[in-house]
Amino acid sequence: MKKILAAFLAGAVMCTSAVALAGCGGSGEKKSTESTASSSTESKAEESKASKGELHMATNAFFEPYEYYDNDKIVGIDAEIAQAICDKLGYTLVIDDMDFDSIITAVSSGKADFGMAGMTVTEERKQSIDFTDTYTNAVQVIIVKDGSDKVKNADDLEKAAIGVQMGTTGDIYVSDFKDATIERYNKGADAVLALSQGKVDAVVIDNEPAKAFVAQNEGLKILDEPFENEEYAICVAKGSDLTEKINGALKELKAEGKVDEIIKKYIKA
Ligand code: GLN
Repeated sequence: MKKILAAFLAGAVMCTSAVALAGCGGSGEKKSTESTASSSTESKAEESKASKGELHMATNAFFEPYEYYDNDKIVGIDAEIAQAICDKLGYTLVIDDMDFDSIITAVSSGKADFGMAGMTVTEERKQSIDFTDTYTNAVQVIIVKDGSDKVKNADDLEKAAIGVQMGTTGDIYVSDFKDATIERYNKGADAVLALSQGKVDAVVIDNEPAKAFVAQNEGLKILDEPFENEEYAICVAKGSDLTEKINGALKELKAEGKVDEIIKKYIKA
């Protein structure tokens, strides 16, 4: 199973045309938050230039505990690490919330300066963007309804109806199953809702958001059998000098114990 996933992730083909459409049309973008809100969506590319003293972070803020809304503020592990990086580099952080599927295009087109969204490093993504050093690990897991006998392990997924968040590694992974039915949603929460409503048999998603979804929705559980381990990193435009700057800040934050501190604040052992 692990070998299959590793091979698949390495060779996976992202739906670049769909990503480009969503990103260029701007329809994926919802709002900016944080201390500085951007005044005009149209001129975001210009505004996001570092010369304005701002760094725009593209994310999908429905991925607790990495990024989620606390009232109208985006909080979470990624939001706090990004803030700490910007503090070190002397920039004001502006968070632009959009579909996960639009993040890579936003970053590669210069609409956002970097993407941070519990984003897994994959060889395929590296063809369109650069990744910084990794800052944490994750695992893909399977959520099912309590007492489900349709999906009891990863092998059962191959013939199941599976809900995923579009463009994520969970999506890439299950897309390999020829006899499965894949339902793709813009938000992980929508996939989980479909599971609660019996529209899909299982949801494949990252472990920490999975825990949050299961805690918030009765009658769901995470299967014990985890999938391939993944690593999260920040994505930046290819060849950008931000990679080096962010890596420098990240290295200091790791050495100071700040990254661990932020992760522990949101993920209780
Ligand atoms: N880690 C997964 C990926 O990179 C999911 C990320 C997300 O949904 N925010 O594809």
